[in-house]
Amino acid sequence: MSKIIILDEITKNQIAAGEVVERPVSVVKELVENSLDAGSKNITIDITGGGLEKITVTDDGCGIPGEEIHLAFQRHATSKINSTLDLNRVTTLGFRGEALPSIAAVSKVSVTTRTKDSLSGTAVELAGGTLISAVTAGCPTGTTVTVRELFYNTPVRRKTVKNPVSEGSLCTDLISKLSFSRPDVCFEMRLNGKRIFYSPGTNSLIDSAAAVYGQNQAREMIYFENREEEIAIKGLAGKPSISRSTRNHITIIINGRFVNCQPLTSAVEEAYRELLSSGRRPVAVISINVPPELTDINIHPAKLEIRLMDEEKLISLTTGVLRQALISKEIIPTKISAKPGKSKLTGQSLTTIEQVPLITGQNAGQPGKESVQDISAGRYLPDETREECPGYISGLNSFPALNALAALPPVYILAAGEDGLYIVDQHAAHERILYEEFFFGKEQGDCQYLLVPVTLELNYREAEILLERVIWFTDSGFVIEHFGGNTFLLRGVPLKLPSGQEKEVFLDLLDYLKEKGSILNLADFSKKLASTLACRRAVKAGEKLAHFSMNALLQELAKTKNPFTCPHGRPTTVFLSNSELKNRFKR
Ligand code: ADP
Ligand code: MG
Repeated sequence: MSKIIILDEITKNQIAAGEVVERPVSVVKELVENSLDAGSKNITIDITGGGLEKITVTDDGCGIPGEEIHLAFQRHATSKINSTLDLNRVTTLGFRGEALPSIAAVSKVSVTTRTKDSLSGTAVELAGGTLISAVTAGCPTGTTVTVRELFYNTPVRRKTVKNPVSEGSLCTDLISKLSFSRPDVCFEMRLNGKRIFYSPGTNSLIDSAAAVYGQNQAREMIYFENREEEIAIKGLAGKPSISRSTRNHITIIINGRFVNCQPLTSAVEEAYRELLSSGRRPVAVISINVPPELTDINIHPAKLEIRLMDEEKLISLTTGVLRQALISKEIIPTKISAKPGKSKLTGQSLTTIEQVPLITGQNAGQPGKESVQDISAGRYLPDETREECPGYISGLNSFPALNALAALPPVYILAAGEDGLYIVDQHAAHERILYEEFFFGKEQGDCQYLLVPVTLELNYREAEILLERVIWFTDSGFVIEHFGGNTFLLRGVPLKLPSGQEKEVFLDLLDYLKEKGSILNLADFSKKLASTLACRRAVKAGEKLAHFSMNALLQELAKTKNPFTCPHGRPTTVFLSNSELKNRFKR
């Protein structure tokens, strides 16, 4: 090994850049956050070539004094905190003093800036972290930072950023989240010269929602606010009618900073538990303000994670406030009338499943300890007995001939086989049957025309994904017409798509493409469509099947290629062997 030395400043900055500047969107995030910290009311973001070519952020904030600008590009130089004392109550988005030097280390940067008290501004240029020129310049109050040729001197990093289109999309997502975190600021974003995002800065979350999701969806969102002691919560609760299939549309903001916060995301989902059928995720924005000393944001280089004191309290408040908002607007009745026989039953029955062991446990009282154990053992039966189910061992389709005995509400069929008791999940089983029917069926790709076309107001990113993959949609039976801008008309849908659900299914597919990006192929897409259609047509939990229907379902299931799991990979069947029963009865 060589001698230990202290690295030079440029190398240090390149190393820091590795953490802070992962890809173009990280640059956009850092620059826009600086603009917000500078008190800007109008911020324009201009991106060319997925951000690898050029990123320009212009603001009307406080500007940087000419004599300080050289400091801005030194590491750990910041105007935002003075000492560790401040670190405990950070109120700005930045504080590490790492962003500008890191960005400058891996690109060519130019800055023009002027404070309102200064008659002239300053323009500086850097390349690879080295100052090339600094001159006085005439410019408006505020700051413009331009980053060119990102990663030009780190070719490996440059190569990992493959697709300019998806980089642009990530930036749109970022600006959407930022506009929810600061509805009082006007954001305008241009991609390759075209304006694709505009939020007016009216300090109304609904206006931000309209910018992100379009007017129609924004109308389906309910504003709420609440204050309890030092904790203020406000936000938007999307009605169940605009639910999606991914968690991407749950936005969590803490003290004006959007963060990934799993516990609060779950708290949001919990509020919707009885309103959405399984696999559906809410659209919601939660903005929480707490005293900054109750949070620790200094745990992640890009400050996307947060540590919260009093987390439990925030979780229960979030769920409570959202639930209140949803109930007070009589969401439940609308949902029931909109989709008869589906959501309410499912919702209620799901609750019942979960509550059975608990209630019985309480009722059993003290001496009933054993019975409590038995019940919970029964509850976890699927995992324990899964291995024993014949098909799992052999890996072959040796699904046995079964005789339906009875229904076990809300969702199970009890069936007798030669070697024991089979418990079949009617929804999962039906899903499997329909899935294979759609996927292998002759009608795949066939289309039904809609009497009234469905209007789709997409956001920029969705429109972009659609245009990129439109052939997959048309191959699958969708008939789509570009109406102009980001608006499309759905004139036809795959033959098996249940009526009234066209928009939901379509948006689900778009979300899926957005999430999986370029790693997908047409076969994955067709599978996703088949499983979505299967899930939507399958008998639901809580639906009562006649005895002969149960038997028909079991027979059809046995004919499938993979009867043991539903298309999402959950088991359809749990098996309790005769010998297991014998054991349990101590015979
Ligand atoms: P940090 O934001 O953590 O302080 P940065 O490296 O991002 O560190 O920025 C360094 C300093 O440069 C900031 O503290 C701020 O004083 C100044 N600065 C950067 N961008 C702007 C801007 N758009 N407007 C005004 N000042 C800025
Ligand atoms: Mg910063």
